[in-house]
Amino acid sequence: MLTITNLHVRIAETEIIKGLTLSVPAGEVHAIMGPNGAGKSTLSYSLAGRPGYEVTGGSAVLDGDNLFELTPNERAAKGVFLSFQYPIEIPGVPGLTFIRTALNAQRKARGEDEITAPAFLKLAREKAQALKIDFEMLKRPLNVGFSGGEKKRMEIFQMAMLSPRLLILDETDSGLDIDALRIVAEGVNAMRGPDRSMLVITHYQRLLDYIKPDRVHVLSAGRIVASGGPELAHELEREGYDKYVREAA
Ligand code: ADP
Ligand code: MG
Ligand code: MG
Repeated sequence: MLTITNLHVRIAETEIIKGLTLSVPAGEVHAIMGPNGAGKSTLSYSLAGRPGYEVTGGSAVLDGDNLFELTPNERAAKGVFLSFQYPIEIPGVPGLTFIRTALNAQRKARGEDEITAPAFLKLAREKAQALKIDFEMLKRPLNVGFSGGEKKRMEIFQMAMLSPRLLILDETDSGLDIDALRIVAEGVNAMRGPDRSMLVITHYQRLLDYIKPDRVHVLSAGRIVASGGPELAHELEREGYDKYVREAA
């Protein structure tokens, strides 16, 4: 469903992604692991369309459309969802307002009617309950004063509400204690399905004990340098990234 071919991405004149090729079939969860500075966040930002990430070559085709020919909001409407490593705080905007606005923008772009207030509240209550989020928290300004774990759960809540086709989790596990990690993983696992592809980016194997990937790829110096099954993540945990860093160099 997602096919990335020979992707090249620059940040401020420096090439960070250097010919990356990767396919994630519908229904599969692929993990991307790699050392710090390998280009993992650059890959996720370029797929989402963050300004400043200049795609100088290659394509990323999702359901027949090259994402790089679409604006960021068109990509979001198509079902691309990026969960941030460090979710930002948005003072003055209640979480519920934020997510309702996003949901309606997505529906509008798809030619659908706005969700009615009762239907929205029902959906939000359902998803919040599943993720053990206090509904009152959703009325507060988005992420303001939330703990690290609460911010991550809030991201998974947004994801559950928007029901994406392509889900990209960029080091969602960083800063999570084991209980928050479990809740996040359960939320993600509940969203696995035949119409959804997931890219789970992580530095550590630990998250993959909870979110079992179909495939594991090693990203080093802007390229995929190895691919395998879940056992590859265990190998990396035991032996580190040195071998792959050397090979990439
Ligand atoms: P990872 O997520 O794998 O740790 P990143 O994609 O964040 O790696 O970074 C890849 C490389 O790009 C690093 O060498 C980093 O220093 C560089 N980089 C990231 N953001 C910027 C930026 N805004 N300007 C210049 N270089 C950047
Ligand atoms: Mg990093
Ligand atoms: Mg990163």
